[in-house]
Amino acid sequence: MILERGEVANSWRRERWDSLRLLTPNWQSRLPHYRYEGTDPDGYMTMGEVIDFISRYSVVSNSPVRTHTTVTSVRRTAVGYHVATSNGDLSCRTVVMASGACNAPSVPPLRAAVPASIQCFTPFDYRNPNRLPEGGVLIVGASATGVQLADEISRSGRPVTLSVGEHVRLPRTYRGHDVLWWMDASGVWNQRYDEIDDLTRARRLPSPQLVGTPERTTLDLNALSGIGVELVGRLSAVRDGRALFSGGLRNQFALADLKMERLLDTFDEWARTSGHDNLAPPERFETTRAPASSRLSLDLRNGQIRSILWATGFRPEYGWLDVPVIDHKGHLRHDGGVVDAPGMYALGLPVLRRRKSSFIHGAEDDARDVVDHLAGYLAGGHP
Ligand SMILES: Cc1cc2nc3c(=O)[nH]c(=O)nc-3n(C[C@H](O)[C@H](O)[C@H](O)COP(=O)(O)OP(=O)(O)OC[C@H]3O[C@@H](n4cnc5c(N)ncnc54)[C@H](O)[C@@H]3O)c2cc1C
Repeated sequence: MILERGEVANSWRRERWDSLRLLTPNWQSRLPHYRYEGTDPDGYMTMGEVIDFISRYSVVSNSPVRTHTTVTSVRRTAVGYHVATSNGDLSCRTVVMASGACNAPSVPPLRAAVPASIQCFTPFDYRNPNRLPEGGVLIVGASATGVQLADEISRSGRPVTLSVGEHVRLPRTYRGHDVLWWMDASGVWNQRYDEIDDLTRARRLPSPQLVGTPERTTLDLNALSGIGVELVGRLSAVRDGRALFSGGLRNQFALADLKMERLLDTFDEWARTSGHDNLAPPERFETTRAPASSRLSLDLRNGQIRSILWATGFRPEYGWLDVPVIDHKGHLRHDGGVVDAPGMYALGLPVLRRRKSSFIHGAEDDARDVVDHLAGYLAGGHP
């Protein structure tokens, strides 16, 4: 039985902004025995299309979904788990937590020091630029969400300052193919969690600077500074009404450029050794242009900035879980989705079993592995 607090595809219905499209191309949208079959395999789905895609899957897969049923508590019993919901209680031998990696925006505690005159938004309450007050906007975070919203808000005529910390730069297309085709074909996205040297770091990696547009646009920091977005360093503090930014923007840029080059080298090497000689020749991209001098502070009281958008990532929420499997940092303790409690499993978390685990197309392989383990657990005669 699948319990869902809202409707099928709830996160895509309730927690996304209006203009969002998937950053993964249509051909990559697949679930077990189900894939995109439309006429635009290289396009990127709008939210309406994602909702239709997932809703159709729940019908064709005949999934036993019980909607409008919020799980309020899961606790261990002698024979498995007791699950309390807004719609009655259940008992079961095994539980798979597929409650999402992005249930809540992750906002740094320094938000508390922001002057009350500034309106704060997160990607969960932002819908489009018209909902923002007129005037300057500080966007904190330059991963997929931050760069997409910086572009949209800047184009609405509002001055945008973008605070940039560690980020992952990628071109939209490389040697004639979508960069995510390269991730797939070269095996990078299939890399298993037990083959990754620094798994903790891999699980914390920010999302890539990518956007899905019909024009297959590359949306990097050069594109943003080209339309007038002001780039500043990582937000390090808010003190006495001023936002303080780290220096070292140039280093952040150099690091992201270097990592992108290394990834492109990996792709080139794969193309060379796997006989893909018919591809366009290797490309290299302009380095990220650093501003001549980047500002180190911004007055939040002089009316120049009217709102702050925290594009600082997302986190899962486990407030309903009464099983001691969360570590002191709020992370679920699991080994490739096998949670540190008998008969309990997880899916959909970053690099759960593979680099692609938290993407739609990552569910298929992970679900097969996790369900294999679960079936073995039940067959093993465990209580
Ligand atoms: C802004 C953004 C853009 C993204 N873009 C892409 C993209 O382009 N391509 C891609 O592949 N992936 C993208 N992702 C990742 C995407 O979220 C995942 O691929 C996909 O949603 C994972 O599905 P899921 O079912 O694991 O989690 P979710 O889609 O989050 O589903 C979890 C479900 O659990 C329900 N739930 C949570 N708690 C409870 C509870 N206590 N009781 C009952 N139900 C509960 C929620 O309502 C939700 O419906 C994006 C994520 C974000 C945040």
